[in-house]
Amino acid sequence: MKVALVGYGRMGRAVEEAATERGHEVVARIDLAENPDATGPTKDRLAGAEVAIEFTVPEAAPANLVALAAAGIDVVSGTTGWYDRLDEVRSAVAAAGTGLVYAPNFSLGVQAFFRLVRAAGQLAERLTDWDVHVLEAHHRHKVDHPSGTARKLAELLLQELSRKSRWELGPAAGPADPTVLQVSAVRAGEIAGIHSVGLEGPDDRIELRHEARGRAGFAKGAVAAAEWIRGRPGTFTLDDMLSETWI
Ligand code: NAD
Repeated sequence: MKVALVGYGRMGRAVEEAATERGHEVVARIDLAENPDATGPTKDRLAGAEVAIEFTVPEAAPANLVALAAAGIDVVSGTTGWYDRLDEVRSAVAAAGTGLVYAPNFSLGVQAFFRLVRAAGQLAERLTDWDVHVLEAHHRHKVDHPSGTARKLAELLLQELSRKSRWELGPAAGPADPTVLQVSAVRAGEIAGIHSVGLEGPDDRIELRHEARGRAGFAKGAVAAAEWIRGRPGTFTLDDMLSETWI
């Protein structure tokens, strides 16, 4: 496939390597300099690409995704922190008849982790004297927190745990409210991405932990999603894609 990279930072470069390894051709690299008014890439800048892979910043992603749909191109979006504008983007994709697959984490290992965490939440629902929390750690360049993956973990757990009414980035001062699911974030050094779910019992504890070794796992998943979304109209999550091949 002919691929356009929208956002040519750390992830854009990792995706280029993964796409090239799979035999795809990167025909356009569109970073801020090629998108100076930040209204999104135009058709001529896309240089005949069949699919675009977007890893930019939360403020730029919605405009990029709307512009890519208007340009008639199928898109994979890995940018996190913009989902409050998902409805607007979904409408633009529907109006254009193009395809979009988005995920806060394209690592297939993380997708397996999500399934394990859901099962852990179902068990913890019965362990009524156990507490549950989420911890994430990333490199110090990351702009949003908690990570999109941590938000997704928290939402998965809230669906299973009737004794937690909401999640909160914390902890806030004072004793922790047992009805709140605590999510904590660390930013330090060059950590590629660690997510853990702690199940804290009165006498022992269980920790489920996923640790990325680098960016290759995210990049390979994004390229797999690009192969899947090509020619498939509508807005999808990575879960939709995996439910075709996984249980
Ligand atoms: P980065 O800062 O290295 O790269 C972002 C790039 O986007 C920069 O080069 C920046 O100049 C460019 N950019 C900014 N505005 C732009 C615009 N309007 N048009 C085009 N390019 C623009 O960041 P990164 O580590 O590559 O991460 C990018 C995003 O991907 C972040 O939101 C991060 O949280 C997310 N991420 C997602 C996954 C996943 O699997 N979904 C994995 C890692 C990172």
